[in-house]
Amino acid sequence: MALIQNALIIGGGVGGMCAAIQLRKQGVDVTLVERNPDWAPDGAGITISGPTLRALREVGVLDEVLRLGGHWNAVDVCGPDGSVKVTVPILPALGAEDLPGAGGIMRPVLADILGHATQAAGATVRLGLTFESMLQDEGGVDVAFTDGSSGRYDLVIGADGVHSAVRKLVLPDFPGPKFSGQGSWRAVVPRLRENSTIYMGRTTKAGVNPISATQCYLFVLDKREGMDFIDSALWPEKLAELLEEFGGQVGDIRDALRAGSMPDAKVLYRPLAGHMINGPWHRGRIVLLGDTVHATTPHLASGAGIAIEGALVLAEELGRRHYLEGALLAYAGRHYDRARLVVTASGRMGQIEQAGGSLEEHTAVMRDAQEKLRAPL
Ligand SMILES: Cc1cc2nc3c(=O)[nH]c(=O)nc-3n(C[C@H](O)[C@H](O)[C@H](O)COP(=O)(O)OP(=O)(O)OC[C@H]3O[C@@H](n4cnc5c(N)ncnc54)[C@H](O)[C@@H]3O)c2cc1C
Repeated sequence: MALIQNALIIGGGVGGMCAAIQLRKQGVDVTLVERNPDWAPDGAGITISGPTLRALREVGVLDEVLRLGGHWNAVDVCGPDGSVKVTVPILPALGAEDLPGAGGIMRPVLADILGHATQAAGATVRLGLTFESMLQDEGGVDVAFTDGSSGRYDLVIGADGVHSAVRKLVLPDFPGPKFSGQGSWRAVVPRLRENSTIYMGRTTKAGVNPISATQCYLFVLDKREGMDFIDSALWPEKLAELLEEFGGQVGDIRDALRAGSMPDAKVLYRPLAGHMINGPWHRGRIVLLGDTVHATTPHLASGAGIAIEGALVLAEELGRRHYLEGALLAYAGRHYDRARLVVTASGRMGQIEQAGGSLEEHTAVMRDAQEKLRAPL
């Protein structure tokens, strides 16, 4: 008999949706509740590393992701004027040598692909609500929802992101994510190059990654004193200021942001916060997934990747163990090292950037982590 008959997933982000799809493949009756009635994340671009492409193939959505997104096999490293200094090939993940080195896609497009796959897999999706209370005993978890309905589940998966409400039930003493000292800026720009491209300025590093046949997203990180509020009306000008020292393609983007001639740029700013929580990641029949337990800065572009990998590992362990406690311990035990590698290496890269530290060390930390992440799960 299967270890669990039914499961409730709180949070319909990448982690929650992939968990729903993988559990449905085992015949588990899945309900997914998502607080956002539109089920739509911010309109920014996201990079999908080689290992993440491999994980998405296992989920079953890779063809759509490659069809609607962009991909590349090398990174051009350029000077501030846009001239290419060196081109670095990206090796695909092991066991996925037929796939591109990396890909990119608009977040809402990825969410749409996974959302359709979640529903096609037969999960019940309930939007615009969350849980009000949860009470567990040996046999299940009784959940009351904010719309007055209720249900009883063999397992509850908290996949409700970095500011998780489910986490308060599992780890009540956790103080919350910590500000990393950097802010992230994003904009959607025309695709002018084949490869992913990084522009090394004296004080700022900017990059563009393809997200479709015609578009890239621009990313810049800046050093900040705190998680200060910045009025969104100011974001295009603030981003333009950060691009001051660049010529070439990035200089053109800066000028267009200033002139207001890129109305679809969808400029986004986010202060970066994160954490790496020690396992185990469950209490009884309630378990945490994705950013709830390992929220990273974007330096390795792998936060969504480890949320998806966590969903694969969790479903796999639930599918092959005989005891729930053993499955949930094995999930955290197997997934912890990869998640920690992403969070700590990304954090170190951010520290080096803030201190104006060694480019060699920055590159070494990134290469070492990328090489380790190519290994199979
Ligand atoms: C600026 C930035 C850039 C990034 N770039 C990349 C990148 O290029 N590549 C990459 O792999 N990763 C990237 N990441 C990391 C990535 O976005 C996250 O790691 C990933 O989204 C985590 O997925 P998740 O499912 O755990 O959480 P989320 O994606 O945050 O999903 C959580 C979901 O739960 C819902 N929710 C929240 N609370 C409740 C509640 N109480 N009840 C019901 N629903 C709830 C939310 O609405 C949301 O839909 C980036 C992160 C940042 C901040």
